[in-house]
Amino acid sequence: MKILIVGCGITGITLARKLAENSHQVAIIDSRDHIGGNCFDYFNEEGVDVHLYGTHIFHTDNEEVWHFLSQFTQWYPYQHEVKALIDGQLVPIPFNFNSIEQLFPTDMAKRLIDALLDEFPFNQKVPILKLRQSKSKELQFLADYVYEKVFLYYTVKQWGVKPEELDPLVTGRVPVFVGEDNRYFQSKYQGIPLKGYTEMFKNMLDHPNISLELSKKFDKTNLNEFEHCYFTGAIDEYFDYQLGQLPYRSLKFDFLTFDRPYFQKNSVVNYPCNYDFTRIGEYKYFLDSVSPSTVVSYEYPEAFILGKNERYYPIIDDENKSLYQKYLALAESEKNITFLGRLGDYKYYDMDKAVERVFEVLKTY
Ligand code: UDP
Repeated sequence: MKILIVGCGITGITLARKLAENSHQVAIIDSRDHIGGNCFDYFNEEGVDVHLYGTHIFHTDNEEVWHFLSQFTQWYPYQHEVKALIDGQLVPIPFNFNSIEQLFPTDMAKRLIDALLDEFPFNQKVPILKLRQSKSKELQFLADYVYEKVFLYYTVKQWGVKPEELDPLVTGRVPVFVGEDNRYFQSKYQGIPLKGYTEMFKNMLDHPNISLELSKKFDKTNLNEFEHCYFTGAIDEYFDYQLGQLPYRSLKFDFLTFDRPYFQKNSVVNYPCNYDFTRIGEYKYFLDSVSPSTVVSYEYPEAFILGKNERYYPIIDDENKSLYQKYLALAESEKNITFLGRLGDYKYYDMDKAVERVFEVLKTY
């Protein structure tokens, strides 16, 4: 079958590879001049792997996803940890026993930890919005503290609204951790492609049945030449915004190079309560690169404005979900086209979930 894939991000590339391996002839296009979508990275002149659209850490519990991608890359066994500046100290995020012990006097820390253990099993993740419902006095204090110092201002910067106005899954991504594990993710598999994401994607696209065209804008007349299209771009754009725009948050990165080996003590430092940026990423940590200077990015959230910046995050609330459903109804009346990916599904997918979604779509194909 002759198949068109619109969008050369992780979703489109996974689709292309899977379909090519099943003997389909695949054409994949992207309006940008590089592959990889927002996962694109490059190595600078000192050999540091810079993620152009912000820090990307691959993690999954899905064996099938991990083994599929592992055909195209080896992995650097990086385990992600994040620190946040809270009350003048850099403490582990997700907020855990170590964060509590760092921020509170010993007796008080013990009381707070005991209160957590009275209510939740050890090593459990508790979303902040759930912790706020606790009846325990200690946990109410802790929840208010964490809500304000970790989530409130960060979320207002990131999304323009308070945590409780968002789908609970968003703040639930970074739950309070009832334990001592400082890692951001507890996934079974975690790592950074040893030669970068872009190299892994190049390997995935390297198949005789795949042809790639960059800097190519999709045009509906393209569809005539193909038997099926997988569209991983924005679904509202496909339908010429006829029902209105689906809102997104965008990001602006200020990349800075410092003439010294390290800028900060950790790959990512969050600034929930200070500054206009949410976090600073320092790229050399991901592959433990050794270099005389270091590259960091300051991450400033902003509204997505069509034609001005890129879409990063769908804003998942009831109103937007219902607008998406209306677009989906339009999509169902279109023939031979499937919408998927962060922009096609209007879902806040992690990289592994984007790959998983492709597997699921191809199973029913
Ligand atoms: N969040 C927060 N403070 C933090 C970290 C995360 O309030 O220090 C909230 C914020 O709303 C953020 C969400 O949790 O958008 C998800 O964070 P995550 O780090 O998963 O976001 P991503 O890396 O996908 O941008």
